[in-house]
Amino acid sequence: MNRFVESRARSAIFNLKPYVPGKPIDEVKRELGLEDIIKLASNENPLGPSPLAQKAAASIIGQMHIYPDSNSFELKKRLSELFNQPMDTILIGNGSDELLKLIAETFLNPGDEVVLPQPSFSEYQFTATVMDGVCVQVPLRGFALDLPAMLTAINERTKVIYLCNPNNPTGTIVAKEQLDRFMEEVPDYVLVVFDEAYSEYVDSSDFVSGLSYLSSGKNVIVCRTFSKIYGLAALRIGYAFTTPEIASAIERVTEPFNVNSVAQTAALAALDDIEHLQASQALNGKGKQYLYEQLESMGLSYVPTQANFVFLDTGKNCRLVFDKLLQMGVIVRTGNIFGYPTYIRVTIGTAEENTRFINALQTVLENLS
Ligand code: PMP
Repeated sequence: MNRFVESRARSAIFNLKPYVPGKPIDEVKRELGLEDIIKLASNENPLGPSPLAQKAAASIIGQMHIYPDSNSFELKKRLSELFNQPMDTILIGNGSDELLKLIAETFLNPGDEVVLPQPSFSEYQFTATVMDGVCVQVPLRGFALDLPAMLTAINERTKVIYLCNPNNPTGTIVAKEQLDRFMEEVPDYVLVVFDEAYSEYVDSSDFVSGLSYLSSGKNVIVCRTFSKIYGLAALRIGYAFTTPEIASAIERVTEPFNVNSVAQTAALAALDDIEHLQASQALNGKGKQYLYEQLESMGLSYVPTQANFVFLDTGKNCRLVFDKLLQMGVIVRTGNIFGYPTYIRVTIGTAEENTRFINALQTVLENLS
């Protein structure tokens, strides 16, 4: 490594594991010379962005010489109405990724501990490590968050605990009863971060949002995103609800123009595109059933999901399966990065994409056996 960087950069940055993004379609085209590719690797909405959001985004393009509203007033107002939360409890971020980073920047001193599930979304570990925090990782139990073990992992140095609900990459939720018990026992000095990026896909009546604990006076933050069901991943916009005090602390470290006006305008329109939301939910529900049936008939086990992806056991080395699928133009995510070397995570796509994935997987597994 370059001596200058080694001696002058903060030591924390050398502890960071690089984020592994879903392989972009264009990269696969370049590398493999393929044209017809489907990406089922980043839990994007296969229906694309809401048509209302597209129209709204196009309408504001001509204003791109003007700085955006640093307070995202109109979007906060609409979120406030829709979720019945006061405006001063709402934060808008450059993706929920930014909100997660802001949480770490606001709360973590070097050596402070955070408790997080493992495997789960990598940003919790990333943002805590950037701030020189200490990550206490609690393994899942039966593919779901182990709340009792997470409680046990809390000590007087713990500042933040992350609950990814539904959990990425497993798609599991924690049941309301367990969460109620957890929230009763979690000490007041710990900030509970609910990451509900996939909550709009949940169809189980056992699910409860972190919002219900917020209204009972707990120190919680509920992060959501426009990247998944609303189909606005490229615009980078997410939102969060918390207490007014926590919101104003986080605002202190927020860049003035963190969310661009195209994103704000598109998100506002997307919130009111109920048709697109419902069509996305319906498509996901059907796709999930189809994948379950096909995987069962292939004798493969999978984790029942409450999100828009399925974590499944191929029974083979997932790197090999990934490479072979890629050669057939199907991009998925390998499970080894999550500690499951025979698993893959596949986003539920359109009916055509799901069929193509299943056919490709069948071919790959036959050739690997
Ligand atoms: N939380 C979870 C659980 C996710 O899977 C993702 C996206 N991969 C995010 C947050 C970040 O979403 P965004 O920054 O696009 O809002």
